[in-house]
Amino acid sequence: MDYQEILTQIKLEILPLFKEGKVADYIPALKEIDPKQFAMSLQLFDGTSYNIGDVDTKFSIQSISKVFTFTMALDLYGENLYKNIGHEPSGNAFNSLVQLEYENGIPRNPFINAGAIVTTDLLVNKYKDKTFKKVLKFIRKVSDDQSIYYDKEIAKSELQYGYRNLALVNMMKSFDNIQNDATKVVYEYFKHCSISMNTRQLSRSILFLANHGIDPITNKQFITPSQAKRINSLMLTCGHYDASGDFAFHVGLPGKSGVGGGIVAVVPGVMSLCVWSPQLNKKGNSLIGTKALELFTTKTGLSIF
Ligand code: GLU
Repeated sequence: MDYQEILTQIKLEILPLFKEGKVADYIPALKEIDPKQFAMSLQLFDGTSYNIGDVDTKFSIQSISKVFTFTMALDLYGENLYKNIGHEPSGNAFNSLVQLEYENGIPRNPFINAGAIVTTDLLVNKYKDKTFKKVLKFIRKVSDDQSIYYDKEIAKSELQYGYRNLALVNMMKSFDNIQNDATKVVYEYFKHCSISMNTRQLSRSILFLANHGIDPITNKQFITPSQAKRINSLMLTCGHYDASGDFAFHVGLPGKSGVGGGIVAVVPGVMSLCVWSPQLNKKGNSLIGTKALELFTTKTGLSIF
């Protein structure tokens, strides 16, 4: 398959969509971005990668970080994790408060904000003040890249304007589903959301999920095959908030989006991918990124179905 040619076709076909989306503006530091950027990277098992567009430009990974923190927590807590967080799609917006109230502070899944905040709280239980250092270390390890870091301005901006996330953490605390100081936990969460990476690094970072938890390039085992199955299943059913069904319907791959405009996806047994374009659709997922992935699976036949 000529992957480079397919990427070139995709880049041409998404051009007319640049007028349609809107960059995330509820985090002021995110709205400064040039909206007309696009990058896509494919990472194969033999180490080959294919890239197109602004692939060296780093962006805020935002909710893609939830995949890494959940992986760490699953490894630490195993099945006990599901006492604090569910594994069902929410059918609600990423930052919704409503469901959380009538479900007694137990978030539906680890990929909505409430679920990711509980995940971070569980990491803080274990790692205390070293939590962010541990998260960064894990991401650097799975990416095989020590240069990855976070954007302090974005983390500060999130804390300053994070009214909803502060409401979520406090509500969960009132239901005893947060063990540590609420503001501290949410700031840890903002820090890992503010990690900056480009599509090359992100596609590389999730390659282990395409290969039962083992990095096929270095042969390092990061998690068990069963854990990798759980994470991929959750990406498929919950990776795009209340548009998760729509993403599965159009793209047919496990994937996770972030409001920075990135989406990672996995073709089990074949490759991992990342696409980035900052303009979002109404559900908070990259509009062009979703379309690019749909074009990719249509042109290559590489969906899981
Ligand atoms: N840090 C963002 C927030 O909590 C993450 C949301 C996202 O990427 O979907 O609002």
